[in-house]
Amino acid sequence: MPFQSLQNDILLPRDLTTWQWLFEHPTYSPISRYPSSQLAGYTNAITKERLNWLEVKQAATHISTALVKRYGLQPDNTVALFSQNSIWYPVAMHATLRVGGKVSGASPAYNVEEMTYALKTADAKFLMTHPNSMQVATEAARNAGIPKENLFLLEGSMDGYTTIKELIEMGKKEGEQVPYYRIPEGKTNFDICGFLSFSSGTTGLPKAVMIAHQNVIAQCLQIIQITPSDLKQILAVLPSFHITGLVHALHLPALINAEVIMLPSFTMRSMLDTVVEYQLKELLLVPPILIRLVRDPIVDEYDLSFLRRFSSGAAPLSEEILQLLKKKFPQTGFKQGYGMTESCSCITAHPPSLYDYSNAHAVGTVCASTTVKIMKDDGTEAGVGEPGEIWAKGPQIVMGYLNNEKATRETFDQDGYLHTGDQGSIDERGLITITDRIKEMIKVKGIGVAPAELEDLLLGHPKISDVAVLGIKDDYSGEVPKAYIVPKSGQTAGRELGLELIRYVKEKKVKYKAVKEIEFIGEIPKSASGKILRRVLRDKEKGGERGV
Ligand code: AMP
Repeated sequence: MPFQSLQNDILLPRDLTTWQWLFEHPTYSPISRYPSSQLAGYTNAITKERLNWLEVKQAATHISTALVKRYGLQPDNTVALFSQNSIWYPVAMHATLRVGGKVSGASPAYNVEEMTYALKTADAKFLMTHPNSMQVATEAARNAGIPKENLFLLEGSMDGYTTIKELIEMGKKEGEQVPYYRIPEGKTNFDICGFLSFSSGTTGLPKAVMIAHQNVIAQCLQIIQITPSDLKQILAVLPSFHITGLVHALHLPALINAEVIMLPSFTMRSMLDTVVEYQLKELLLVPPILIRLVRDPIVDEYDLSFLRRFSSGAAPLSEEILQLLKKKFPQTGFKQGYGMTESCSCITAHPPSLYDYSNAHAVGTVCASTTVKIMKDDGTEAGVGEPGEIWAKGPQIVMGYLNNEKATRETFDQDGYLHTGDQGSIDERGLITITDRIKEMIKVKGIGVAPAELEDLLLGHPKISDVAVLGIKDDYSGEVPKAYIVPKSGQTAGRELGLELIRYVKEKKVKYKAVKEIEFIGEIPKSASGKILRRVLRDKEKGGERGV
């Protein structure tokens, strides 16, 4: 029998876009529910620039009007956002969604090749970026056929490029603003994609995940049910392009009228300064930052006794770190969320009654309106306490992968279950614990890295005949990529070639994808159909052999 949520079901509005829901609706929109003097919004933690929800609405209305009337944006066009965290990021996002466009976020650390791939895969027609990312953005846009006039700056100014503030002025000058997009007759907000986020899923190269307006609405409603009412400020330190930031920092706060304190870029000191300045009580972080909270000596320079809760997600956290956190911050509670881009963030999360270090090894209970099956290797459903692959069904499960029916069919079954590629078990209280990751994905500092992407790159190296990449444990990053290499005949397997390959990946890929270890091997273990037998390599790894 599938495991049902213990929470009350959520009520889903089926005819609303995220824009209508957050900015137009009498029951949901903070603009209808609060006087303008009490409206929260987005604040830049460093410059203190701030926009409340009403200002976001006005700015996004003008921007969308300019985009449609002056630049010809059509409903269904994709606008790529390629920027560090900025209070103008959600404004550009809401502007796009307001007129039926799709928003595709990309890591600001991407190089030209990676960004070109992201733009082409998401079929982006417009690109909004930050001055720090402009050089990569310009080249990638050219490669992807996006004209220079469709490239905009979210912040600052640069000769020859239109800024978002200029778009606002253009929109104002148009007078009548374009009406907001409505769900077409015969469709629901489950059918309309609003977001394209990248994930490698269970196998293969990164794919554009199609996230419906309804997925984001459902996830926010699911999380609100288990959010304490004292949450009035949210630190946005996680990147906006990742599903966790997109839901928990860019959407959810508007519904509970919580102020979003945005950190443009992460350093431990800037984060701690911000936490102290705003006396933030709850911190949503990822394991690598939590590890630094217990290990980095600079933390001891700060009085953090006002902290009340940590929240973690996106990657596993060890029992050792949990115990250290409890010891160092005994006044805090702890909760986790578990999910994927394909589940629009959480499948499970801790309800307030379980915010306790004794439950923190688990990833919480099943979210409202969600059903989970735990599937054993023999294809039968596991019972309480038995491990198996987690499958999940609910209104947050996304539409599929853009232009990739095969991967969609493999990951989302006909009964509506998402096959997560994670192994876990459920206890008699309904708490789920993740026990292993059976899919290919490597999680470096909470960000997914596709082994297939690094394998493709390394196979293009002239001295390599075959390769397999897999994640190995790392104290700081959680996991890092390791490559098993079969050199071409005549090549000497050794330290020199190993270092050359490590440099080769470093030059061609963003920093977090860097291969940290190389091991030379006579043959890559493969199945009869040519599939890499990663489990064999993983077992070998557990045996403790080390490479270069
Ligand atoms: P992403 O699509 O980047 O969010 O990655 C999703 C994957 O991250 C999941 O399938 C898990 O393997 C892993 N993950 C997410 N949250 C957790 C968690 N709380 N504990 C362990 N692993 C997690």
